[in-house]
Amino acid sequence: HHGLSFLLVPMDQPDRIEVRPIRQLTGTSEFNEVFFDGAHARVEHVVGGEGNGWRVAMGLLALERGVSTLAQQIGFAAELAEVVRTAVRTGAAGDPLFRDRLVRQWAELRVMRFNALRTLGGAQDPGAPSVAKLLWGRWHQRLGELSLQARGALAAAGPGDWTPGRTYELDAAQRLFLFSRADTIYGGSDEIQRNIIAERVLGLPRETRESS
Ligand SMILES: Cc1cc2nc3c(=O)[nH]c(=O)nc-3n(C[C@H](O)[C@H](O)[C@H](O)COP(=O)(O)OP(=O)(O)OC[C@H]3O[C@@H](n4cnc5c(N)ncnc54)[C@H](O)[C@@H]3O)c2cc1C
Repeated sequence: HHGLSFLLVPMDQPDRIEVRPIRQLTGTSEFNEVFFDGAHARVEHVVGGEGNGWRVAMGLLALERGVSTLAQQIGFAAELAEVVRTAVRTGAAGDPLFRDRLVRQWAELRVMRFNALRTLGGAQDPGAPSVAKLLWGRWHQRLGELSLQARGALAAAGPGDWTPGRTYELDAAQRLFLFSRADTIYGGSDEIQRNIIAERVLGLPRETRESS
């Protein structure tokens, strides 16, 4: 954590920076491995002062976990509406248990929205980003599961033919389900969020760390 500096490195250095997309199980590549091989950055590219990199990175992650989810919730609401439409079309919505799960998703999305608005309003609680991440990560995974269940057995069939070794085609519900598997990992896994809440909010004993 100590002695790290956070740099904004200009990316137009073709021979010194290599970007390798990481292909995910959805077939898409939202993020990359990036190799910096003798790349240059200037002193003014240091963010937050020399040696403060960990603090800056943690500030960024708190935004990714917490307040940025306000915009993300617009996407969540559109995905939920699509699942509801599918459930009505296939008849899955006629099952009281399925309806109950849809209503729970709707209610929890409202809770997430009010929590995010509270954070925007300046209520700063050190655990808020981690609580938000735990909530939306699992919420979105459940939505992924519902999106396939609403379709029934047809959900297992792809929209196109698939040849082994070739990229496969997925429809929106299948992409949602597969991508949402990662929601409890990226931005810091659920276990890490629970550690943060335990140690920094509840004041529980710190977990044993390996000495360096
Ligand atoms: C779709 C996706 C997009 C991503 N995008 C980005 C990105 O844009 N930029 C970026 O920098 N990274 C990105 N990541 C990486 C992501 O931040 C890490 O995968 C994540 O923080 C988990 O770290 P790890 O993979 O090293 O797992 P590890 O830290 O090796 O953890 C492995 C397992 O052990 C558990 N674990 C680890 N430490 C503890 C502990 N102390 N206590 C209890 N359990 C523990 C974890 O919860 C997990 O289950 C992305 C990952 C995914 C899947």
